[in-house]
Amino acid sequence: MTKLITTINPATGAELRTYEAWTPAQVEAAAAAGHAAARAWGTQPLDVRVAAVRRLAQELRRQSKTFAELITAEMGKPIGEAAGELEKSAVTALYYADNADRILEDEKVAIDGVDAWVSYEPIGMVLAVMPWNFPVWQVMRFAIPAITAGNGVLLKHSPNVTGCALALEKLLLDAGLPKHLLTTLVIAEGDVPETIERLINDDRIAAVTLTGSNRAGAAVGAAAGRASKKSVLELGGSDAFVVLDDADLHAAAAAAVKARYHNSGQSCVCAKRFIVAESIAQEFTELFVKGACALVAGNPADAATQIGPLARADLRDALHRQVERSVEAGALLLAGGMPGEGEGYYYQPTVLGNVTPGMAAFDEETFGPVAAIAVAKNDEEAIRLANATPFGLSVSIWTSSSQRGVKVAKGITSGAAFINAITASDARVPFGGTKKSGYGRELAAAGVREFTNIRTYWSV
Ligand code: NAP
Repeated sequence: MTKLITTINPATGAELRTYEAWTPAQVEAAAAAGHAAARAWGTQPLDVRVAAVRRLAQELRRQSKTFAELITAEMGKPIGEAAGELEKSAVTALYYADNADRILEDEKVAIDGVDAWVSYEPIGMVLAVMPWNFPVWQVMRFAIPAITAGNGVLLKHSPNVTGCALALEKLLLDAGLPKHLLTTLVIAEGDVPETIERLINDDRIAAVTLTGSNRAGAAVGAAAGRASKKSVLELGGSDAFVVLDDADLHAAAAAAVKARYHNSGQSCVCAKRFIVAESIAQEFTELFVKGACALVAGNPADAATQIGPLARADLRDALHRQVERSVEAGALLLAGGMPGEGEGYYYQPTVLGNVTPGMAAFDEETFGPVAAIAVAKNDEEAIRLANATPFGLSVSIWTSSSQRGVKVAKGITSGAAFINAITASDARVPFGGTKKSGYGRELAAAGVREFTNIRTYWSV
């Protein structure tokens, strides 16, 4: 019997579209065609690949409006933020088009009597397992550098954004990239772990990248290990937003609200734990609660909306249970704390105070509009609290002394540290995690080279 995937508009609960999931034979055909396309692409000169990536940037901008509407319909992101994904992807494509020569050129190595160099060569077809929270950006963040490097992509996207996933495949064709260079697999719920493991074991797959939860990352990382295959894992986060006693509190509180509630709180690098110096904790908390309560929640298709629904009903329910468990454990409910009224999977912008390790809002990733505020007596305690998490994606530190900010950052384990700035990915700098937030890097030179054969040439 044909298995089906139905997408749902999270703002209304209404069904959007139903797709037929693929049979194993269809997956096999895609793997064969994708492998052939990737091999042919890898033989293309770099200037041909770069020209294609430039056309992709144009196409991302040309299709921005229709893509943004599809993103908003499928996962509920406010429409302005959805359009932002397309623009960010276009800027990233142009970054790689402008910098590919520098990043991928051969590097001479000075060795007496030897002509030696390092070459960054394509590896073939990479399997990409992706999440729904940035349906275009997450895919493009990996795919643009991978394609620039001469590789192909087999994409397994989240089922709730199947429309976006298929539109991405078409986007590449519209930009004039070869057929099958990026193929979207449509895999039914229940078939995913087995299909992904089979593909990881397949010799035609050179490597695998996953962006998603720790549970999924652990499964894919283990399968890649068994197959002795390269993997990159971009997993969850519970980033600390540290406010020291000399910070500009108005600037910090305004940034904190943005950092927590962007994408309705559904981002791996949303600030989730606010670790605030004792002497300014009350004032910061008042400013933060005021900012959170002023956010405009509503229909994500409306340009004025700042908080949309969560992407799925089960995610909203799981978040509510985390809030309830935190309050039972002693957290103070300072704002929100309930699902939104009426249709759709809304959750009120929520602020919890007096949060400490041992509470769900501190120990677990909260993937929605819930902020946890914890108080630190001094910089040492702020560092200890920031580190008291299994995650290590990024940290944002607010202080009037950048020297002090860097000193605090050095005490905290994370893949990035932002001082007086909100954590964000940017094509020019590497992005990735430490601890249970994963391993490997995306973006910048590191992101391209992750999926190349870093090959030594030695000639005498
Ligand atoms: P998820 O449930 O882990 O799903 C991510 C992808 O993995 C989906 O395509 C999913 O497919 C697939 N998957 C799940 N279990 C799998 C398995 N056993 N084997 C192979 N594939 C499997 O995560 P999500 O709920 O979509 O996304 C939210 C999570 O992603 C959060 O933890 C967030 O922090 C993290 N995230 C991290 C980053 C980063 O860059 N570090 C960026 C964005 C999101 P199915 O849904 O079909 O099962």
